[in-house]
Amino acid sequence: MRRKIRKLTIAGHTIAKNEQVDLMLDVSQQYTGSPIQLPIRVIRSAKAGPTVLITAAVHGDEFTGVGIIHELMHSDVLKILKGTLILVPVVNVFGFENQERYMPDRRDLNRCFPGTENGSLSARFANIIFSQLIMQADYCIDLHSAAQPRTNYPNVRGDFRDPEVRRLCRAFGCELMLDSKGPDGSLRREATKSGCPTMILEAGEPCKLEPSIHEVGLRGVKNVLTMLDMLPGEVVKPPYQSLIKQGIWVRASIGGILRFHVSPGEIVEEGQPIATNANVFGQEQSVLVSPVEGIILGMTTLPAIKPGEPVCHVAIPTKSMTQIRKILKASSRTGLYHRVRKDMASSISKRDIATSDNEASWAPAAQEPED
Ligand SMILES: [Zn+2]
Repeated sequence: MRRKIRKLTIAGHTIAKNEQVDLMLDVSQQYTGSPIQLPIRVIRSAKAGPTVLITAAVHGDEFTGVGIIHELMHSDVLKILKGTLILVPVVNVFGFENQERYMPDRRDLNRCFPGTENGSLSARFANIIFSQLIMQADYCIDLHSAAQPRTNYPNVRGDFRDPEVRRLCRAFGCELMLDSKGPDGSLRREATKSGCPTMILEAGEPCKLEPSIHEVGLRGVKNVLTMLDMLPGEVVKPPYQSLIKQGIWVRASIGGILRFHVSPGEIVEEGQPIATNANVFGQEQSVLVSPVEGIILGMTTLPAIKPGEPVCHVAIPTKSMTQIRKILKASSRTGLYHRVRKDMASSISKRDIATSDNEASWAPAAQEPED
């Protein structure tokens, strides 16, 4: 723990030990001058310990984290043995109202941290979140989904050069972990830099509540709180865990309508068909194949595609694929991650392949995948 918290004051309210309180923090104003407020739940144990901040919907259309925080609110997570839990179900209250990723000034809030007192609307908003919440927290877990129109197989991201971030990511318990600092101005990068080690979860689709993904989030947060001795019991480990060595985006080379042959979390061979591209009359034009052996980390959910648009993100883990296959084969068919794969496959209407000539089209992923 890097900061010792003696007194915790949010939105002008000092939260006493052993108190649970719902607060509204003034973050901006409407045209009418009415306040725009951020709902926050704070749970303080009687015993001193770390302050853990959990944020969702920094991108206003990403409901995944909202669903996870609702699960947390109905779970035994609230009975922490020590320390403080701060839950913010919707950070970007503007975007959330309109089911939009961005802020009203068309900025991405997750590029505006730590913000400034006298800057743009988004900069001022970010500054309030940063000074009122992040600067008072010892750790932060920021919950995200993929951006429109994509889905992500649950994975965690953080700057592994920071041993505390590494600890958070490992304890959370996703199979796949990405070691990256995050984009400039992102909550996780700026919070970690300021001394609040922060990790993110990237899971599922925007504008959706997906129960098995919420289970991943609930288990993950519980795991982190258990690792910090804020909850009793043991950390629940996934069947395997690996860092992602490289990510490759498979892109369409011609316009058309896709039928998918793989789903998120699936292991693919090099040359394995990923999607068949049909023209507007339903005639097969080409088949996209995976350029490498790896795991499907992200996919488009929109079957209509233009040249250059991303179809799927294949992750190459550092752990050997042979070992991963072996572990997954031996692991329970009813386990959480198995269920997640099954649920995610049903949401993209996967079809079996039956085709001839294969087309390969790929490009290396951008250096920093989007949070
Ligand atoms: Zn996001």
